Amino acid sequence: MSEICIKCGLPKELCMCESIAKESQQIIVKTEKKKFGKIYTIITGIDQKEINIKELSKKLKSKFASGGTVKEGNIELQGNHKQHIKEFLISAGFAPESIKAR
Ligand SMILES: [Zn+2]
Repeated sequence: MSEICIKCGLPKELCMCESIAKESQQIIVKTEKKKFGKIYTIITGIDQKEINIKELSKKLKSKFASGGTVKEGNIELQGNHKQHIKEFLISAGFAPESIKAR
């Protein structure tokens, strides 16, 4: 008898839960031009059940000394920080391969 996954009820060797969770943790960093031509760096795809997104946005704001908000589960930071955010997220414990910069 093999172990049964408590999430989906399938035997562990058929269970896809873990790979689905990893895919949902796919973080995308992109820039967006908003009102008045202001550039924002948007971080999307963070699983709020696993990560305290408000806490993370606070850290990002002080690290990059810029304003920002959390909107619909996305972090929006003023300015273009795309080059440095990946580094920051890795140092915050995210897997490098889960972060895509667009
Ligand atoms: Zn499962």
